[in-house]
Amino acid sequence: MRDRRWNRGACRYAVPVDLLPNTLEDTAAAAQALEISRHRAREVHAAWFREGRIAAPWAEDRVAPIERTTVDHDTVKFTMRLPDGLETESVVIPMYRDERITRTLCVSSQVGCAMGCGFCETAQMGLMRNLTAGEIVAQWFAARHRVENPYDGGRGFHIKNIVFMGMGEPTDNIDNVLQAIRVLADHHGAGVPAANITVSTVGRAAGVRKLAAFAEQTGYRKLNIAFSLNAPNDRIRTEIMPITRAEPVSGVLDALKAWPVRRSAVFCMEYVLIPGVNDAPEHCDEVCELLRDLKCSLNVIPYNPRRNSPWRAPTEDETAAFVARAVANGQFCKRRGTKGRNAMAACGQLGNENIRKRKFVDLRVGE
Ligand code: SF4
Repeated sequence: MRDRRWNRGACRYAVPVDLLPNTLEDTAAAAQALEISRHRAREVHAAWFREGRIAAPWAEDRVAPIERTTVDHDTVKFTMRLPDGLETESVVIPMYRDERITRTLCVSSQVGCAMGCGFCETAQMGLMRNLTAGEIVAQWFAARHRVENPYDGGRGFHIKNIVFMGMGEPTDNIDNVLQAIRVLADHHGAGVPAANITVSTVGRAAGVRKLAAFAEQTGYRKLNIAFSLNAPNDRIRTEIMPITRAEPVSGVLDALKAWPVRRSAVFCMEYVLIPGVNDAPEHCDEVCELLRDLKCSLNVIPYNPRRNSPWRAPTEDETAAFVARAVANGQFCKRRGTKGRNAMAACGQLGNENIRKRKFVDLRVGE
């Protein structure tokens, strides 16, 4: 055995090493404590992340089992059952360009969410708990190596992009989210470039600043941020996003202006279009005025009704009219395609009704 010096009984590590929350540097440090060489640590680390296999007795597979996989046309949603009985939810979404298909993975950073956005299924659960960095990375691992691929009959997908747009507000679990990004972007492991990772936030100014400081560091300078704007002013935003009372949009926009934007890049401003709430022509004009000083793309997302929703989805014509008006106002604007609505996998539709009934919050986990 190549790792013959490792002896579970004699070792001060009572349990083998969980590689999920580790960059290569973390794995090498753990291996060094076990008197295992850096070279060997690198081999084991690469085998785990790239091939999905455990290649040493001192490393352990702690990926939670996949509970359910739901396929809606070209979108795959999967849930993983955590040791405490809660579930993560993740979605593999296809992107089509020039007859090529790439896949984006939408990951959760929490089980449930405390933000209470009125249009969002996850908000109905409340916050259950933060996910650990390992539990966030495990969603990528499962998508890459374990989820049934119904299109080729194998397992796993090549994941090009990762978006933190699943359950949870990433800035409320910032330390674990940042460690997960370190692991995901590590080119010795998962190897998803920071330029292909987007963190979406409802906008806590302090959290945005912390993300901005992270994005100043070498290796993460191309990290992307998306802001869920969703309203033309604080009054309407407060009605659908209560966080606005504590965090007015002006403060978040100021924090975003300090973001280290690449010259070629733009911010993504998400706008969930809800008929009768934020879709009037004057709303569009107000939004464009608000964003005038910011180099950004306004991404209009037709509302995907949650369970028991008081609002309907907008029609194609309503969505097209809003986008056209924004463009006429000189705002760069795109309509986000809707995928996975039938599987409750679309934007704002994640959340498990049954788990919702077992409401509890334990913020100590994963802190
Ligand atoms: S939209 Fe995002 S921040 Fe708002 S409740 Fe849903 S998961 Fe939380």
